[in-house]
Amino acid sequence: MQSLKIAVFDGDGIGPEITEPAMKIVDRVARDAQVRLDFEVLPSGAGHYRDHGESLPESSVAAARAADAILLSAMGLPDVRYPDGTEIVPQIELRFILGLYAGVRPVKLLPGQQSPLKIPDGKTLDFILIRESTEGLFARMNEGTVTEDEAQETLVITRGVSEKLFDFAFRLARQRKAKGYPGRVTCVDKANVFRAFAFMRKIFHERAALNPDLVADTAYVDAMALWMVQRPWEFDVMVTENMFGDILSDLGAGLMGGLGMAPSADIGDGHAVFQPCHGTAPDIAGQGIANPLAMILSGAMMLEWLAMDKDTPALSEAAGRVETAVSKVLTERIIVTPDLGGWASTSDLARAVEAAL
Ligand code: ATP
Repeated sequence: MQSLKIAVFDGDGIGPEITEPAMKIVDRVARDAQVRLDFEVLPSGAGHYRDHGESLPESSVAAARAADAILLSAMGLPDVRYPDGTEIVPQIELRFILGLYAGVRPVKLLPGQQSPLKIPDGKTLDFILIRESTEGLFARMNEGTVTEDEAQETLVITRGVSEKLFDFAFRLARQRKAKGYPGRVTCVDKANVFRAFAFMRKIFHERAALNPDLVADTAYVDAMALWMVQRPWEFDVMVTENMFGDILSDLGAGLMGGLGMAPSADIGDGHAVFQPCHGTAPDIAGQGIANPLAMILSGAMMLEWLAMDKDTPALSEAAGRVETAVSKVLTERIIVTPDLGGWASTSDLARAVEAAL
């Protein structure tokens, strides 16, 4: 049996509550696909900082680097901060350390999954938002200057990362086109106002020219916020700067029924982290009512990525089984957590997914 090493950051707040069932489900379908996943839970996070003075120990980074993939829940606690008052966000630091430039945020409705939007017959929500995750307005995170009268932050767009990011977007659109999607990449920016975005757009067009089999177009971020609500079914793959992507991905999560439903991946050259779009939800932590589906679906995304990275198609089938099981539970809508309008606990919902498998 093939075996793969999975580094796990179970995090803070609701993190451990949703990580345990997700690991169990992913482990089960992988085993059925003849792949053993060796999980290693690594110390990190705001709680670890409070108790041990370190938020992301070197040994955890080394273990994550050595792993075949990384599964992460969420980190940070509102009352635990660094001495300068900033939040503890090792998940963002990991993106920089491992060069995870492509934040993949699928905005997809599984059968049975409800959207607050009224979706016309014959249409569905099924696009992917790619958020650049290592530069943009986050490039100089924690280095902004603040005086009594003025605050300044810096936005950085580099040619190197932009080229890799756009190439990633075009590759993904091509893979989707092979499955029947339109093969379209939309660059979302604010090129009409900022030079940095005009620079980014120019690089987008250069990379688009190398991919003539795909459709490439552009949109301003404010218009995209409108279109994501008015006609989101028209999009295939979108690619954007870090801060714009941060905001639009929460809008996307809202379209999918909330943060508890939105999985994601942060992918670089050789490393990948899979985690739900949501944070540690301190307001409901410890109550056993967090929705584990975003975490479980992030695990499915991990299997899909490993299927490609390790050339093991059985893992893609395993990922599909998880999606189908989640979809079945959502269609029945008997056992769902309070964020989805139900009364079930985290473990009830996770058990329902297991039963559906
Ligand atoms: P971050 O800044 O780390 O992204 P945040 O403070 O923006 O975090 P979250 O921790 O994601 O926000 O929580 C936002 C809201 O969504 C909270 O009310 C929280 O309870 C809810 N929420 C987040 N994740 C879940 C989940 N898995 N299940 C149920 N509710 C959730």
